Amino acid sequence: MDRRKISVGVIIAAGGRGTRMGVSTPKQFFLLKGKSIIQRSVEVFEHHSLVHEIVIVAPMKYMDRVRRIVRRNGLHKVSRIVSGGKERQDSVWKGLNSFRERPTIVLVHDAVRPLVIKAVVSEVIRLSALHKAAVAGVRVKDTIKVEQTRGYCSKTLDRAKLWAVQTPQGFHFDLLLRAHQSARKVGIRGTDDASLVERINIPVRIVDGGYRNIKITTQEDLAAAKSWLK
Ligand code: C5P
Repeated sequence: MDRRKISVGVIIAAGGRGTRMGVSTPKQFFLLKGKSIIQRSVEVFEHHSLVHEIVIVAPMKYMDRVRRIVRRNGLHKVSRIVSGGKERQDSVWKGLNSFRERPTIVLVHDAVRPLVIKAVVSEVIRLSALHKAAVAGVRVKDTIKVEQTRGYCSKTLDRAKLWAVQTPQGFHFDLLLRAHQSARKVGIRGTDDASLVERINIPVRIVDGGYRNIKITTQEDLAAAKSWLK
C-alpha cells in the first residue's frame, strides 16, 4: 500500500457505561488534570498529521456531553458522534459504518487510554498499512496462570510468548469490516478487534505500545495517569 495515498480513519470507542470505579459517571468523562479522559484521547489523533477523520461512539445518554467537548475544543476531525452498542464490538461495528468517507486504514482506540503517544500511533499506522493488521501491546511482566477450577490453577503459560494487547489497533478497513461481518454472522464475541481478524487467519503485527498506555479502569489507574502527566 502506497503510504502517500492512504487515508486514516479513527474510531474512538467510548460507548461503555462501565462504572467499575463505583461512581455513576463513565470513566471516559473523568477529569485528568483538568481535562476529560475522552478529550485527551481524541486530541492525540486530532493532532496527528496522518489522521483524516475521527468517529466517536458514545453512550446515548452522553451524546450531548461529547458534542460539547468536540465543539468547545476545536476537534475538527470528528465527523460523527454515534450512540454505542450493547458491547464494545457492537460499538466498533457502528463506528465502522459511520465514516463520512471510507478510509483505507482504520484505527480503533479505547477512549479510556488517554496516554497513548504519537510515535505509537505512527507505528501502528505504518505497520497496519504494510501488514494489514497491527496492534499496540506490551510484553507481560507477570507469570500468567490459568484457573482450571474456581480458585485453583494448574497451568502456567509460556511468558516469553505473551503480550498484553492495548489500543490503538489498526487494520486495512476492508479487512476489519470483513472480520466483523464474519463474527456477527456466527455470533462470535471478541474483547478486541484483532481477535476477530485472527479468527479469519490474518496474523496481527504487534507494536510496543509502552507500559504507560494503560486502560483507565480503577482509581489506582487514575492516580498513576495523573502522576505521569507533566
Ligand atoms: O469495557 P472495556 O474496558 O473493554 O472498554 C474499553 C473501551 O471500549 C472503553 O473506552 C469503552 O468506553 C468502550 N466501549 C464501547 N462500547 C461498549 C463497551 C465499551 O465503546 N458497549
